[in-house]
Amino acid sequence: MAMKIVQAECTSCGDCKPVCPTNSITDKGGIYKINAETCTECEGEHDAPACLDACPAGDSCIVFI
Ligand code: SF4
Ligand code: SF4
Repeated sequence: MAMKIVQAECTSCGDCKPVCPTNSITDKGGIYKINAETCTECEGEHDAPACLDACPAGDSCIVFI
């Protein structure tokens, strides 16, 4: 139960990071990643993953794993 960022599609815009309720998104060296250990898919917080809703590249960039 987690999301993953497809690096080839990510433009490092940063829009996903501040909306994550579990602080699961990191941006070390401009590479955005989701910590699969702490990502809850926003269960109990939002109807859909907030990072996915925020991402300009949408579901080609942030995918369910
Ligand atoms: S699905 Fe929700 S909890 Fe998981 S990384 Fe995206 S915003 Fe954070
Ligand atoms: S919102 Fe999408 S394109 Fe922007 S940093 Fe996050 S995953 Fe990458």
